[in-house]
Amino acid sequence: MSMSSNEVLNFIGGAYVKSAEGNVFENRNPVDGALISRVHEAGQAEVDAAVAAAKTALTGPWGQMDVAERAALLHKVADGISARFDEFLAAECADTGKPMSLARHIDIPRGAANFKVFADVVKNVGAEFFSMATPDGTGAINYALRVPKGVVAVISPWNLPLLLMTWKVGPALACGNTVVVKPSEETPTTTALLGQVMNDAGVPPGVFNVIQGFGPDSAGEMLTRHQDVDAITFTGETTSGTAIMKAAANGIRDVSFELGGKNPAIVFADCDMDIAIEGTMRSVFANCGQVCLGTERVYVERPIFDEFTARLKAGAEALQLGRPEEEATTLGPLISLEHRDKVLSYYESAKDQGATIITGGGVPPMSEDLTGGAWVQPTIWTGLPETSSVVREEIFGPCCHIQPFDTEDEAIAMANDTDYGLAAAVWTENASRAHRVAAQIESGICWVNCWFLRDLRTPFGGAKQSGIGREGGVHSLEFYTELRNVCLKL
Ligand code: NAD
Repeated sequence: MSMSSNEVLNFIGGAYVKSAEGNVFENRNPVDGALISRVHEAGQAEVDAAVAAAKTALTGPWGQMDVAERAALLHKVADGISARFDEFLAAECADTGKPMSLARHIDIPRGAANFKVFADVVKNVGAEFFSMATPDGTGAINYALRVPKGVVAVISPWNLPLLLMTWKVGPALACGNTVVVKPSEETPTTTALLGQVMNDAGVPPGVFNVIQGFGPDSAGEMLTRHQDVDAITFTGETTSGTAIMKAAANGIRDVSFELGGKNPAIVFADCDMDIAIEGTMRSVFANCGQVCLGTERVYVERPIFDEFTARLKAGAEALQLGRPEEEATTLGPLISLEHRDKVLSYYESAKDQGATIITGGGVPPMSEDLTGGAWVQPTIWTGLPETSSVVREEIFGPCCHIQPFDTEDEAIAMANDTDYGLAAAVWTENASRAHRVAAQIESGICWVNCWFLRDLRTPFGGAKQSGIGREGGVHSLEFYTELRNVCLKL
């Protein structure tokens, strides 16, 4: 089994599978560095077996099922996650170190909801139809059939492991595809656990497969290169997306990418300050800043700059670092010591480049049992030029830079001066300004007076180097299905 003996396995054709070559890597808890489990890394043999199982399953009972039956099965999967809520919660928090209070309200419920939402969307989608004239006067009709793409590779990151993986597996299965999932090497457990839920729900073997391992030169790359994979959906770093797109070019496979961000917030002097502070606190520090949609650049209108900065500092300093299971904990560690090195290198660069450190900037003193964890201080800077690497590059940590502005146009120009375009937040009580500014921000989503408020029916994705394509609601169908036109002469 995946969990019982502290071993995390691959899940292929409905069965848990060890590494044939005996390749096993360690999964450590970022809170204290303790060993959680040993993970069986998939090699070429396991990747081939998983893709073959997915391909075979396309023509089995899964392929014969009508959409209502498939949707009912996916509801059972969602209920299966809910039934094992505590197990998923414990596994997710052990792998990521995130506060249970957060995962209990976001990660696990959304992991279940992703199956229900897309099952319901797919049940209710019609097909297009055109009637046309023909020279002989009899006419013809055209109608489109929506068919699954086939075997879909799902490659997911570590920051919201269950949530982001099911966000792709849900619609892929709802549309009738089969999947091979490669979760992040940092967070293998909840994806493996989902295999048991699939079996218990009665999802046919081979429809959902999991291969464990790393990206380059490992299971991830083997999966993206596999020519029986028909489409690749990926969430992760822009640089990884570049490598995956190259692999997808061989065989002309479709890609859907949700990539990095360097998201701005624009805070106008006419905002409701309490709401803006509360929202910016969450958008900067939630999940220890490891949210693709999180804010790392804050632009504040000059008259309220000092007050806003002082209040955000007070908020940051009130965060409670601690273990996931302690209810008072509001800030966990970063995902790994390796990621901490990256974040701390930006903390150093900020100092070197002359930033004013409003708060934080280093490693917090922790009790002895937590010193092996990947802890960093929540950090706020001001005073850096917009050309600084700290202001331009995605850090993915609990930190932000605050810059004053004088005019609306100046704020919009600074917000848009980035290679990324994932998300933005605008804080203002002026409704006209809200619409005017939101329309000019070059990002996939712009929140006004809120953050992370998500209706799963809406289009989600990134502009510029933050992604390709949109997923969510009916938009997911564009990637997970192929349209076939039938033209019938009357
Ligand atoms: P990552 O790119 O390092 O890894 C993501 C996944 O891709 C992992 O499973 C990894 O093993 C795999 N991978 C990496 N290189 C690969 C390759 N060449 N071939 C095949 N697979 C490969 O990203 P991460 O560090 O896990 O996650 C953090 C990043 O994800 C941040 O940049 C963040 O902004 C982004 N992200 C984006 C969204 C979004 O919706 N746009 C959501 C969450 C995270």
